[in-house]
Amino acid sequence: MFKHHFLLLVLGLTIQFGTAQSYKIHSHNDYLQEVPFWSAYANGASSIEADIFLKDGNLYVTHGESEILEDRTIQSLYLQPIQKMKALQLGKGRPVQLLVDIKSEPYATLDKLVSVLEEYPDIIKDKSISVVISGNRPKMVDYFKYPSYIKFDYQSLEAPKNEKVWDKVALISLNFKNFSSWNGKGRFTAPEHAKVKSVIEKAHAYGKPFRLWATPDSKTAWKAFVDLGVDFINTDVPYASASYLNTLKDRVYFNKETSTVYVPNYISDQKDTEVRNIILLIGDGNGLAQISSSMLANGGNLTLTQFKSIGLLKTQSADDFTTDSAAAGTALATGTKTNNRAVGVDALGNPVKSLTEVLNEKGFRSGLITTDNVTGATPSSFYAHRTDRSDIAGISSDLYKSKLSLLVGGGSESLETELHENGFAIEKSSNGIKTSTEERVAHFLSQADVPSILEGRGPALAEATKNGLAFLNAKKKPFFLMVEGAQIDSYGHYNNVPGIVSEGIDFDRAITEAVKFADATGNTLVIVTADHETSGFSIPQGNLETGMIEGDFTTDDHTAVMVPIFAYGPKSQEFQGVYDTNSVFHKILGVLNLE
Ligand SMILES: [Zn+2]
Repeated sequence: MFKHHFLLLVLGLTIQFGTAQSYKIHSHNDYLQEVPFWSAYANGASSIEADIFLKDGNLYVTHGESEILEDRTIQSLYLQPIQKMKALQLGKGRPVQLLVDIKSEPYATLDKLVSVLEEYPDIIKDKSISVVISGNRPKMVDYFKYPSYIKFDYQSLEAPKNEKVWDKVALISLNFKNFSSWNGKGRFTAPEHAKVKSVIEKAHAYGKPFRLWATPDSKTAWKAFVDLGVDFINTDVPYASASYLNTLKDRVYFNKETSTVYVPNYISDQKDTEVRNIILLIGDGNGLAQISSSMLANGGNLTLTQFKSIGLLKTQSADDFTTDSAAAGTALATGTKTNNRAVGVDALGNPVKSLTEVLNEKGFRSGLITTDNVTGATPSSFYAHRTDRSDIAGISSDLYKSKLSLLVGGGSESLETELHENGFAIEKSSNGIKTSTEERVAHFLSQADVPSILEGRGPALAEATKNGLAFLNAKKKPFFLMVEGAQIDSYGHYNNVPGIVSEGIDFDRAITEAVKFADATGNTLVIVTADHETSGFSIPQGNLETGMIEGDFTTDDHTAVMVPIFAYGPKSQEFQGVYDTNSVFHKILGVLNLE
């Protein structure tokens, strides 16, 4: 499924991660960028380094005399661009610090810098632009001789003898190598982490922002420094660093959801005994990394990770390397690989019978439960026959004609009316499903898009699963139930880790109800899989104790990686191995002795 753009955007902006972290990006050795100043500023850097060297009365931007390039001066590379940025109102007045790193003799160079800056009154009068001198600096006692717009970088943790010097200090910077030899891969050693933490606390006790230089320049390092409270993140790659850090709030989640792990009794598991009922749970977009993230956030275990029969599915659709939910749902539901966007038809557009239809002819009852709209691509693959998933009118009319006994998901008033007219009793509460004696029951989780866990849905999916199983079981007929955790996919599309993890954990609560039912009956086979992976999800870092997950993404679309399939109950061993999504249909008919 794929929906509610606006709500998710708003959520993304308001979800907090951990303690309030704020950071600024410092573009280290900025003149080595392909386009100095502009690329760093455009990517949100708040501090930009200008290495300068005085030669023949010019302030060249360079590390040393031998690398001087004519025309590359502090004026051409920095002061003129800043003036232009101001004149054109670019950057919306976002403050910028020019950290001038003096590479030549300090007194003459600084005198020259002051005389150059006097030619840019707009810059020196602007409170949002600060000029901070680093590198070769004059003696501290001389700091007061320079104009008020000149501030200094302080490179010590010892308080100056004259406390007034703090008035001329803009920030404290120290060499990271003095405290740690960490290369930015994996974790700091605990003693080094403690040392760096105490250094930062000491610097902050002076009331000054803090920067470390000679730091490792990696994703892991940037996050470690932000978590430690370093104010200026030193980087040679401002674009990559900003892209990484600015998305952390959507990519880091401190889990608040729980799935109480149910350990099955395994009495019927992998036994070659009769299978009467099938429960197929589909986590939309629920790849191995998504499952891992919900497992790790849930303390290292899920009910799902108790399963012993495990396989992998190849997900390619008939016409595309990377499937959508319609083609994948159709493969699972009908045993036929089809084109993307198609539901319940083959690649030529001919209707193919789905599990609910095939099994209905054999005396089975069937039900669909989803956190998507009931006409979404995955559920509709189990009752509709349309060449395009967006043909909601056609899909709805197929739904009215279906033989389903149970339907739970997002709906609308018109759907409700039509379903009622076509023989469904509309049950207002989820609990009402459990005790309903009606032949066919529909229950709507909402009259529009179903809210997510983060939006306050609560355990509605697990409750519907439990109640739906009781309803179907009471009919004294074998049954097929499909349960979809639909919004794992939505949050994958939005590259939103809190959503992926919380929906994954919620999906496990539904799995728990299915497994408990399987244990209670002994003749129910539970199959859990996904239609495809979404977002190229990965989990670079996390914390088992705090339930913290940092996720990362390679795309906002589906990917072609294999997805896991888990089975529990009699003949679950038939689902081991590596095979295509459409084989699941044939395996289900096989274990029911219908094929
Ligand atoms: Zn999707």
